[in-house]
Amino acid sequence: MSALAQSRHLATPIPGPRSVDLMARRSAAVARGVGTTMPVYAARAFGGIVEDVDGNRLIDLGSGIAVTTIGNSSPRVVDAVRDQAARFTHTCFMVTPYEGYVAVAEALNRLTPGDGEKRSALFNSGSEAVENAVKIARSYTGKQAVVAFDHAYHGRTNLTMALTAKVMPYKHGFGPFAPEVYRAPMSYPFRDSEYGKDLATDGELAARRAIGIIDKQIGAANLAAAIIEPIQGEGGFIVPAEGFLPTLLDWCRANDVVFIADEVQSGFARTGAMFACEHEGIVPDLIVTAKGIADGMPLSAVTGRAEIMDAPHVSGLGGTYGGNPVACAAALATIETIVADGLVARAAQIETLMKDRLGRLQADDERIGEVRGRGAMIAVEFVVPGTFEPDAELTRAVCAAAHRAGVIVLSCGTFGNVLRFLPPLTISDDLLLEGLEVIELILRDL
Ligand SMILES: *Cc1c(COP(=O)(O)O)cnc(C)c1O
Repeated sequence: MSALAQSRHLATPIPGPRSVDLMARRSAAVARGVGTTMPVYAARAFGGIVEDVDGNRLIDLGSGIAVTTIGNSSPRVVDAVRDQAARFTHTCFMVTPYEGYVAVAEALNRLTPGDGEKRSALFNSGSEAVENAVKIARSYTGKQAVVAFDHAYHGRTNLTMALTAKVMPYKHGFGPFAPEVYRAPMSYPFRDSEYGKDLATDGELAARRAIGIIDKQIGAANLAAAIIEPIQGEGGFIVPAEGFLPTLLDWCRANDVVFIADEVQSGFARTGAMFACEHEGIVPDLIVTAKGIADGMPLSAVTGRAEIMDAPHVSGLGGTYGGNPVACAAALATIETIVADGLVARAAQIETLMKDRLGRLQADDERIGEVRGRGAMIAVEFVVPGTFEPDAELTRAVCAAAHRAGVIVLSCGTFGNVLRFLPPLTISDDLLLEGLEVIELILRDL
């Protein structure tokens, strides 16, 4: 197959006629509950480009929601998948196991923060891994309650809907939700700053606020686990104030509460470290991974301290497809690519480039309340100038205009007012800057 040209190109209006046809077929065949960010049908993708069925080439600033971190159809992954698919596609690891699963577990145990003995278990989706992390924490502690945080996103299955904060679109009409799930205040520096500079900059203070509520409303004696995204994804790319995570972790350790880091979105080189926890120097008890783990093959994992991971009885964990051999081969090739191609450093480079460009934009645009994030996980929060009032309408308008201009961007945030950038780390500087320039021109026009 010929290489995909690494340039933005609009062959038709967006969406083009073939995408419009497919959208009509889709509406007649696919349940409407499954949403669409961009009504454009993909044909090929590589590097920093997604080509649609009408021959439009779009700049990819979304990576399929932080999944194709090493670039779509990354060469080592394509080879590994082809090779494994030709040997066998499935046996079920619980029936006749295979080396790939073990090798992925070894790699996760080695790569995740912490030097102690670790174990891993593999699953299919981020939600499924989160559910299993909670099962493991309950089994280990003999306790039931779980606390999650404001703005959290942990998935769409029943337990993970309960853990997820935002009702629309994730929870509305889908209850009742799993019991024994509680919520504590997050550290959200930009929004906390409305209520005082100390809370915004002092992570320890923000953690004490959360711990006070946990203590009084749940009680450590009932609490099996605290689950948190070290940098929140769907909630708005919220980076907690420095000290928030370590203080929370210390409290968990002192109270026999399992600290679960949900790194489904922030993991695997995305933030300029292999895992976002490393920026705060914390070693979580359990770490949940998925999205960036296997370049799009469905795979997820829970990794953590051996004594916790080994708490559930034999056959208490598992699933038919968990750790599928083709997905495991893709994961090993993904990890090899991150290391061999220096992609952790590349993510840090992308941060510098993006923050520089977006920071200059913010300097003369009062609608940009904050530019934040780490590595190639960068966001812009839009507000009504001079206030903290979220501007979701502007965010929607920017996204729609970007899509028409051939740039894939996503929004997020509890208030729907955050524009998020998740470029593949293989995007060229030129394409990335062109994508940002499109956003800049749109903002000038709106
Ligand atoms: C996407 C996501 C999940 C859920 O993963 P799925 O694979 O969609 O089930 C859980 N946690 C975080 C932080 C996520 O970003």
